[in-house]
Parts: sequence; C-alpha cells; structure tokens
Amino acid sequence: MGETPDAVRSRRRDRCGMTTTAHTSVAAGLRSRGFVGRIVEPADPGYDTARMGWNGAIDRHPAAVAYATDSDDVAAAIRAARADDLPFTVRAGAHSVSGRSVRDGALCIDLRALRGIDVDADAAVVRVGGGALLGELDAATQEHGLAVPAGQISHTGVGGLTLGGGIGWLMRRHGLTIDSLRAVDVVLADGRLVRASADEHSDLFWALRGGGGDFGVVTRFTFEARRVGPIVLAGVLVYPWERAREALRASRELMERAPEELTMFDVLLTAPPAEPFPPELQGCKVAVLGVAWCGDHAEGERILAPLRAACPPALDLVGPMPYVALQSMLDDTAPHGWGYYDRMHYLLEVSDDLVDALVDGFENVPEPEAHVVTGWLGGAVDAVAPGATAFGHRGARAFTWIIGSSGERPVEPVQEWVRRMWDDTSRFASGGVYVNALDSDRTVRDAYADEIWERLVAVKRRYDPDGVFSGNGIG
Ligand SMILES: Cc1cc2nc3c(=O)[nH]c(=O)nc-3n(C[C@H](O)[C@H](O)[C@H](O)COP(=O)(O)OP(=O)(O)OC[C@H]3O[C@@H](n4cnc5c(N)ncnc54)[C@H](O)[C@@H]3O)c2cc1C
Repeated sequence: MGETPDAVRSRRRDRCGMTTTAHTSVAAGLRSRGFVGRIVEPADPGYDTARMGWNGAIDRHPAAVAYATDSDDVAAAIRAARADDLPFTVRAGAHSVSGRSVRDGALCIDLRALRGIDVDADAAVVRVGGGALLGELDAATQEHGLAVPAGQISHTGVGGLTLGGGIGWLMRRHGLTIDSLRAVDVVLADGRLVRASADEHSDLFWALRGGGGDFGVVTRFTFEARRVGPIVLAGVLVYPWERAREALRASRELMERAPEELTMFDVLLTAPPAEPFPPELQGCKVAVLGVAWCGDHAEGERILAPLRAACPPALDLVGPMPYVALQSMLDDTAPHGWGYYDRMHYLLEVSDDLVDALVDGFENVPEPEAHVVTGWLGGAVDAVAPGATAFGHRGARAFTWIIGSSGERPVEPVQEWVRRMWDDTSRFASGGVYVNALDSDRTVRDAYADEIWERLVAVKRRYDPDGVFSGNGIG
C-alpha cells in the first residue's frame, strides 16, 4: 500500500513549508502547495487528450491540466495558481460549447476524479461529486427509483449544467436542476471550503443556482431526488419535412394546455442513415417531437391522443421506456470531438411566424449534423419566483436552441448559418440567454437582466474580490 493522499499532502506541505517560490514548472508549483493528483504538462504524453474538451473546434493549450482528487487538492491548485500568478479554469464534464473550461496558458483544474455519488434513498437525498456526469447520476439514483432533474445528454457534466440552471426532460414536472439543489460544498478563491445552502452563505447559494461557475469550485452538490421511473412514457414522433410546420404547430396546440407532467422538445434535423428512421426518411430533413411524460402512463396516452389524431406521425416511437434510456436517447447526436457552435433565444410565444422562420432557415442548413431544438418551459419551472435563484428566465414560454455541428469538418460554414438563423429569429426573442448556451461572441452580461446581474456582481465582490474565477466572465 502506498501513502494516502492526506499523508502525501501533509508530507509535501511540511517539506515545502508552504512558502511562495518561483517554480520551474507548473507541476512544481502545484506540488509545493500539496497537490497530489495527476498533473499533465505540455511535454507529457497524453497532453493532447487531456487538453481537449467535448467541442473539437476548440483547440486550446493550457499550461497544465491538474486532476484534483478532493477538495484539498482543489484548494491546493487554487493557492498554487494564485501564488504563481497563473490564471486558471475549472472543468467538470468539459461540455462548455464555447470552451470556457480550458484557456490558452492557464491551469485547467479538472474535477472528473470527484465523481462519487452517495444516494440516501430513505431521505431521497443525493450527494454528487463536482465532476460527475449526468449518466453517472442517473445510474446511481435509478437503482432506487429516484432521479434528479437534469439535461438530455448523458455525458454532460453535473457541474456546469447545474450551476447554469439545468434544463431537461423532467423540468415541467419537477423544475430545473437548481430547483432540486439543497446545498453545495464550495472551495472559494482563498482556498477555504464552505457550505452554501438556504441557511448558510445564502447569497452565494442564490448565485450558484443559475449564475454559472464563477464564484468558487463546487466539489459536492446535495440534491433532493424525485420519484421517477424506472419506466417512463417517452420517445419521439417523426414527421417528413413537408409536414414540419404542421408538426410544430400541433405541438404548440398541445403544449398550450398540457399538464406539467408533459415535457416536449421539437427538433428540426436531418435524419441519419440508420435505424430507427425508415429508408425513405434517411438523409432527409425531418421534424421530430420529443416527448417525456412523467406520470401515469394511461393518462399520458390520453393526453397525447389528440396530437397523434390531428397530426399523425410517419414514425411513432413513443411508448414505455426505461428512464435511463430516455436520458441517453440523444447521445449519438452530440459525440465528443465534432465541431460545434450554438446560439439560443428565449421565447414569449411560439407563433406561426416563428415556426415559419425556423423551418425556412433550416432549409439552408449546411451540415447534416446541425439541428434546431425548441423546448417548452412553464409548469414547475415557473413555480419558483423569478428572483429566487440567479436563473433569470422563468416565465419564458419556450426557447429555441440553434445547434451547429459540423461533424469532423471545419465548423465555420455552420457557424455562419447559426448566426444568420439567430439573427433571422431575433425578433421573436424575449431577451437574455441561458448562461449554459453562451456562445463565444457574447459575454455573460448578455445572459442576465439588470437586477439579476447587479446581485451577481455583489456576490462576486464578496466571495471572489480579486476575480480569480473568470471561466464565464463575471468579475
Ligand atoms: C451535448 C450537450 C448537451 C447539452 N444538453 C443540455 C441540456 O439538456 N440541458 C441543459 O441545461 N444544458 C445542456 N447543455 C449545456 C450544458 O449545461 C453546458 O455546456 C454546461 O456548462 C456543461 O457543463 P460541464 O460541466 O459538462 O462543462 P465544463 O466545460 O466542464 O464547465 C462549464 C462551465 O462550468 C464551470 N464548472 C463546471 N463544473 C464546476 C464546478 N463543479 N464548480 C465550479 N464551476 C464549474 C466551468 O468552470 C465552466 O465555466 C448541453 C451541452 C452540450 C455540449
């Protein structure tokens, strides 16, 4: 047996006396502060793998990637970076589309080793490491018939998704991810570990629920879990392109009166040349209505019946399925390493004109991997008062997320298309943007209304007065 991380840390600290020195490498600076995790520097084997995130179009060269093993390691990394005047970023699932978790010349503090998940089934409470992925969270909670509302692609990080808000299949019934968050353990800019909740550091807790990750490193999230599954009524209804407008309007008719158990995402995409799409739809543009019903299945079938009758799909794949299958159903649309660029709008309504603009704009999509997702908000999302968390967009009816993917080809043509499509649909937008969908052309200031922004800045001044956390750009 080798030494425990604590023993190594304390021996290193004793040896180094925690003094600030000029270091010949980033690794030396980290070790001198007691960092025990793996460190990958540019000359090391594996550096190219370590530096790349999910978006293959982001090609950055951090000074080093430091894999923290626990909160002490996170604190050691922050102190080392500050002592050596080295900027740093924090990375969990590496899904930031604009690449905010890796920066040229900065230290990347990677949290993937902090992925322990502890489910207290009796109390319906889940403690999740700051570097866990959504699929890991779903697998652990579903063993007990529980779930935490989260996002739609299983390899997204719980960290970034939660700190921005958390939109997904359960949201109209159980709210955003942050609405199930009860506490966080956070390493602050000075290296202190604190707990934030409704009762402790409540201003910090407010900011971390929707304000992004610029206030500290969350090493552990504590969520209230909900009873979900293991089988849910869900799946997709697929329509040929000539019926895309009809399908989107039919979805709107349903969602205008739908119970909160129903969440829907309307997607315009090019059907891949594979099952489950029939040969006549493969390679063609289609409209897909993604459905998740979170309640009694017979009642769900009854609610969906008018949609199926008024607008019969070419392919009906809605039926009982395991919740974990729903949560990874779309994974193949977003593999690691492709080029991506995205933009989104919140919407006060889904008008006929918007539907026309989306369908017309999608006619010109340059790449078969690109798609447009219009998701319906409301229900439990609106049950929380607008200012109660830093997520500033309660009350929006829906959002439309224009996701440019270029496969393994250059991203620029699809980037141009996303920008054009976004401009052409701007007149329908209600303002602001989801901080988790911030593209590289805009700043975090664009994400929030004045009132939320001013509160975020005040919390930032209190907990990170020197602005050392700058992944999203607050401070
Ligand atoms: C394929 C794909 C699907 C998506 N689907 C959804 C969806 O269904 N619903 C939804 O709401 N969003 C979705 N998103 C957006 C997603 O929520 C954001 O990209 C989010 O930032 C990803 O978090 P991450 O931990 O994977 O990313 P990272 O790139 O690791 O981090 C993103 C930001 O969060 C910060 N951060 C991450 N973890 C921590 C932590 N523990 N403490 C402090 N700061 C931290 C980072 O510093 C960085 O600034 C999706 C994104 C992608 C790429």
